[in-house]
Amino acid sequence: MIEANESQPLRLLTVTAHPHDVTYTLGTSAHHIERGDSVTVVSLSDGVTTHDEELEDEMRKPASERRAEILQRPRSEQAIRKQGELEGVCALFGIEDARVLPFPDNPLEPSSSKILSELTDVLHEIRPHIVITHAPYNYPYKNMTSLWDNDHSLAGQLVARAMQRAAQADAGRGRSPLHVAQVYYIGAEFGWTDIDLFVDISDQVARRIEAEALYETQGHTSEFSRKRIEAFAGYHGWFGRTGYAEAFIRERAQTSDYLTVTPNDLSSATQTGRETLDRIGQFESGRADGDAR
Ligand SMILES: [Zn+2]
Repeated sequence: MIEANESQPLRLLTVTAHPHDVTYTLGTSAHHIERGDSVTVVSLSDGVTTHDEELEDEMRKPASERRAEILQRPRSEQAIRKQGELEGVCALFGIEDARVLPFPDNPLEPSSSKILSELTDVLHEIRPHIVITHAPYNYPYKNMTSLWDNDHSLAGQLVARAMQRAAQADAGRGRSPLHVAQVYYIGAEFGWTDIDLFVDISDQVARRIEAEALYETQGHTSEFSRKRIEAFAGYHGWFGRTGYAEAFIRERAQTSDYLTVTPNDLSSATQTGRETLDRIGQFESGRADGDAR
């Protein structure tokens, strides 16, 4: 449960590996912005290597048919397009501060002192109460743990190291120590039994579909975008006993004077079977664009 604090707006910082990864958190961020909290989004990389569908398609052609303008396109040109996509997507949900750090992806450089230093600067600048990022570990595959880190778990590790740095008093630069109150890992790549919190984003689904379709550099069509949100947000909504949800895993247990129970949990406990079916059975894809706003 994310405790509302009426007297103090919360500062959220979302740090992802690539510009697209933020999508799994946007409905949640919109709810925070609606109640007066602030949200900053940082992608650690430009995301150009992971998704360059145009280049892939071009390289599948016979050498004589490949177009020079695609093959020789500078990385910076694609990076600017992807940054524009991130900013446009964040703006849909009211997020005005969306940044892309100028580092390559796939692989992210795990020992990069430059990434760590820039990220530590961002932590000191924003001084977030809540950080949302990737888990610094891999999901087990066939009960085995992968020793090969992908960009997402590497990003989670970089964020953990930057938070460790920011927590130390830095007299030389006049920085007071920063202790982040809670860290939420993006749960999209994990099974539902690993999830600690489902945020009901049923009111944000039309926007999530719209956002997904804005990633033109990844080749997203409106049909693909609908399917993706139905499959991912619909899957987590199913297990969160609602239409659509975003899933999070807490870095550590909460401390409270009381046991926590959310208004959503209390409402679910008292609703009729019919109401439960209606809530879970919300179906965004059948509606026209924008109808669910
Ligand atoms: Zn990614």
